[in-house]
Amino acid sequence: MSKMKGLKCKECGKTYPAAALHVCEFCFGPLEVSYNYDYIKTKITKEKILQGPKSLWRYQDLLPIEGEPTVGLNAGFTPMIHAKNLGAELGLDYLYLKNDTVNCLTLSFKDRVVAVALTRAKELGFDTVACASTGNLANSVSAHAAEARLRCFVFIPADLEAGKVLGNLIYRPNVVAVNGNYDDVNRLCSEIAGEYSWAFVNINIRPYYSEGSKTLAYEAMEQLGWRTPDHVVVPIASGSLLTKISKGFNEFADLGFVSPVKTQIHGAQAEGCSPVAAAFKEKRDFIKPVKPKTIAKSLAIGNPADGFYAVKVVLASGGVIEHVTDEEVVEGMTLLARTEGVFAETAGGVTIGVLKKLAKKGLFRKGESVVAYITGNGLKTQEAVAPALGVPWNIQPSLANFQEALKAASADTSNKERGVQ
Ligand SMILES: *Cc1c(COP(=O)(O)O)cnc(C)c1O
Repeated sequence: MSKMKGLKCKECGKTYPAAALHVCEFCFGPLEVSYNYDYIKTKITKEKILQGPKSLWRYQDLLPIEGEPTVGLNAGFTPMIHAKNLGAELGLDYLYLKNDTVNCLTLSFKDRVVAVALTRAKELGFDTVACASTGNLANSVSAHAAEARLRCFVFIPADLEAGKVLGNLIYRPNVVAVNGNYDDVNRLCSEIAGEYSWAFVNINIRPYYSEGSKTLAYEAMEQLGWRTPDHVVVPIASGSLLTKISKGFNEFADLGFVSPVKTQIHGAQAEGCSPVAAAFKEKRDFIKPVKPKTIAKSLAIGNPADGFYAVKVVLASGGVIEHVTDEEVVEGMTLLARTEGVFAETAGGVTIGVLKKLAKKGLFRKGESVVAYITGNGLKTQEAVAPALGVPWNIQPSLANFQEALKAASADTSNKERGVQ
C-alpha cells in the first residue's frame, strides 16, 4: 500500500493517478493529492516526528512523495519566536512569529514547497524544472535545481526587485524576465507547459508543490507544544498557503495529535492587490481579478488560483481578510525589525500591518495565542523600505567629530525612539 491514493478533483471528486496533472479534464477544477490516511495512521507517531530530521521532512509521512526526499533536505523547521516586545506594543501576551525569513536555501517559505515539488518531479522522471514566479519561488527553484543538478527555467515579471533578480542569476538557471505582471507570466507559462515536458512546479506539479505549505501548520503546532493557536495571520498571494495551513491543522487533529481545531484563520493582502480581501468584504463567492499595484510584489497576484478556496477557509474558521496600504506595509516592516530584530520582506510588512489592524479592532481576546507567519526576508526587497530609513551619521575618524554628531543627534527629536542619549 502507498500513502498517496492519487489525485482528486476538488470540485467534482473525479480521481486521477498521481502524475503531473493539475486540472480536472471534466470540470476544470483543481486537482489535489488524496491520501490513504488509514495507512498513514499506522506509520506516523508524535515520537517518530520528534526523532525525525530537523527539517520539514520530519513530516514526510504526510507529504506527497513515494520514496525518500532527495531535494531540499534542510528546508523548514524554522524558529518560532515568542514576540514579547511586539506583543507588548500590540497588547498581546501570546504573540508568536513563525520566522521563515531564515528558511534554507533561499530565505522564504517557498523553500518548503520547492523541496516537495522537486523531490516529486524527480520521482516522476523530469530532468527540467520551471516556474512562474512573483520572485521567491524563482529564487528557490533556481537554488534547488542547482543542488539537484536539474535544468531550470524561471519566469518572472521584468519589474521585480533587484535582490530577487540577482537571487536567481547567481544559481545560473535560465532566467526569463517577461514584460508584464505575474498574471501575464502565469498565462504564458501555462502555454509553455503545454509545449514542453517540463515540471512547472506551480502549474503541472502544483498538487504536490502546494502540499509543502502544510508543514507551516505542523511546525507551528509542534513548536507550541502540540497545540493549535487561537489565531493565525497568513499573507495571501494565490491563496494556496492559507488553505494548506488550514489543511495541516485539520490533519493533525484527525490523527489525534492536537484537539479539534478552533483556530481563526485571518488573511492579509496589500491594498494595491487585494482581490481576495475584496471578495471577503463584499461577501462574494467569486474573485474579481485586479491589476496589481503594490510594493508587496511577492503577493502581487491579480487573479489568484486559490482565492475562492481561501475565502471559504477563512469564513469557515470565523476569521477575516484585511488589507493594508503600502505605507502600512513599510511601517509593519520597520515595526517588526525595531521590536523583534526580524528583517522581513514586504509580505512580512503586510502580515504585521494586518496583525496590528486586527489587534486595534480588538479581535484578539486576552490570553489568546496568535501566530503571524513571516514568509520572506527583507534583504530581498530593500528598495521598498530604504526611503523610510534615513542614512547613517557620517563622521571623520575622530572622537571630537563623534561627540559633535552625538550632540546634534540628541537635539534632533526625530531620533527619540532610537534612545540616542
Ligand atoms: C508566495 C508567497 C506567499 C504566499 O503564497 P500563496 O501563493 O498564497 O501560496 C507569501 N509570502 C511570500 C514571501 C511569498 O513569496
